[in-house]
Amino acid sequence: MTGLDELLVQDAVAAGQPRVVVTTRLLGACLGEGGEVRALALTVGRRETLLLELRRGAFGERIEAVASCPRCDEALDLDLATAELLAAAPDSSARVEMALEAEGTLWQALMRPVTGADQTAALGAPDPAAFLLRRCVSTLARSDGVPWPLEELSTGMVAALDDAMRRLDPMAEIRLELVCPACRHEFSAPFDAAGQLFAELAAEADQLLREVMAIGRACHWREDEILGLPRPRRRAYAALAMAP
Ligand SMILES: [Zn+2]
Repeated sequence: MTGLDELLVQDAVAAGQPRVVVTTRLLGACLGEGGEVRALALTVGRRETLLLELRRGAFGERIEAVASCPRCDEALDLDLATAELLAAAPDSSARVEMALEAEGTLWQALMRPVTGADQTAALGAPDPAAFLLRRCVSTLARSDGVPWPLEELSTGMVAALDDAMRRLDPMAEIRLELVCPACRHEFSAPFDAAGQLFAELAAEADQLLREVMAIGRACHWREDEILGLPRPRRRAYAALAMAP
């Protein structure tokens, strides 16, 4: 990441752009030529993985986050390791056969993982989850081969398809298994890689400006040259420029 990427996130978040759009723009900027098209084609799990790796490059392995206990509202301070959050994510959005069980029957679904393009298309859909299922599930059949119309899904079948979707791309929704220190309640909470990274970058907006100012004053480089430096290099120069 360079300062330009950090600024892109800060501006997009301040403008209230949807998270999926900011993610595509950031990954696109970091992937180079044709980046946004490539970022849209990536599975959600791959996008989350890349965000975590970008964050690790910028802020380090440990992640300080907060969660709140759903039973007693206690705030939990979390100290997470990036390596423990990373899991395998599908590299391609190719269709695969998934077995599932619903309504006391075994089913076969031909489905593919959700991509950034799907998430973008789902923006504004009245029911984004149903929209994504319709888009990513091609066929559903009972295990004896009898096809089932996708327009006629029971609640149980939707839940089983959602579960198959999670097995297909576990990194699409990172979940933390937590225990509340106050009431001992055990619960599972989602970890939002994009939200975490964007909040940390937004919190540094003033610091980025101070670094650009300090380097500009000391080295007489242009703003775009300083913002184009890789983040560790910029910070090293800024530390020297700010040293008494
Ligand atoms: Zn609690």
